[in-house]
Amino acid sequence: MTLHVHPDIQSLSPYVPGKPIDELQRELGLTRVTKLASNENPLGPSPKAVAALGGGNNTLHRYPDGSAYRLRQAIADRWKVTSDQVILGNGSDEILGLLARTFVTPGDEAVMADQTFVIYKMEVTAAHGKPVVVPLVNWTHDLEAMAQAITPRTRLLFICNPNNPTGTMVQAEAVSRFMAKVPHDVIVVFDEAYFEYVRDPQFPDTIAFVKEGRNAIVLRTFSKIYGLAGLRIGYGISTPEINDFLNRVRPPFNANSLAQRAALAALGDDEHVAKSRAINAAGMEQVGNGLRVLGVDPIPSEANFLYFDVKRDGRQVFESLLREGIIVRHIEGTMLRVTIGQPDENTTFLQALKKVLM
Ligand SMILES: *Cc1c(COP(=O)(O)O)cnc(C)c1O
Repeated sequence: MTLHVHPDIQSLSPYVPGKPIDELQRELGLTRVTKLASNENPLGPSPKAVAALGGGNNTLHRYPDGSAYRLRQAIADRWKVTSDQVILGNGSDEILGLLARTFVTPGDEAVMADQTFVIYKMEVTAAHGKPVVVPLVNWTHDLEAMAQAITPRTRLLFICNPNNPTGTMVQAEAVSRFMAKVPHDVIVVFDEAYFEYVRDPQFPDTIAFVKEGRNAIVLRTFSKIYGLAGLRIGYGISTPEINDFLNRVRPPFNANSLAQRAALAALGDDEHVAKSRAINAAGMEQVGNGLRVLGVDPIPSEANFLYFDVKRDGRQVFESLLREGIIVRHIEGTMLRVTIGQPDENTTFLQALKKVLM
């Protein structure tokens, strides 16, 4: 049957998510599977978020609050912005799509790193824009080169900080110098999905750029440290002007009622966040040291995952690990990414990798 499909859409390939645990169990008949593929919180969700889901479900026949009044107000209070500066998404992924659909017209350009979150390229291409890809330097965003890549057609510029999949971070000083060079009509997207894991005190205060009135949006998510990836909820902090346009394109009930309720509870659970940070810091040591013992040098990471070079066909190592019941991510060539898990999961991963690399 004839299908009329724009070449931009034909050029895309579907996003490949981390392999679900059930799927690997079915395929290989395994009972014990360790998933360290999608940067999920190994501690699970905040108990307060789970408790918030328990009650009040007798209103599931009602549409959610499309304005998400309570959650947006809580996020605004947390970051000292006004609630019209907060926009919610069905995951921060959705906000990336809204940005492309709202601000990118055919032929417009969007600057991004060559190894970064793959959704940027997908959304820009789907909006018939042109991704302008700038190589990393030392596995880190080359802000100088990114500023130079801006042309009169540039509408969006993506900075993934810390960067997925490399785990590297750009510091406050470099970001300030960069922002001084970016023309004020370009929207800078700071994707900070791993913000709560960062330990480097030089992490930039990007919300300050929004407060200055710069065209910028800071994306955060409840999918990573807050442990709510399955509910799909993330947020953006931007200027009222940018949010006004995004809201014209946003599906009215994009943040579902359970997600809103759980996110509100999770936002107030500082104890769970602190515990999650601590277990990640310890696991980072454990996995980092374990990899170095195996002769693998991971790239220093500010997030909850490590990126490393196995110096042989990465796909084969990935597949051998699957047969051991370990799901990691093969990114490209010889590079793999592993999420930091609970101590026993980290041990299981390191033992399997040792066996596979022998
Ligand atoms: C995980 C992730 C996101 C957010 O995902 P959602 O679940 O859609 O909120 C956004 N950006 C990066 C870089 C990520 O790794």
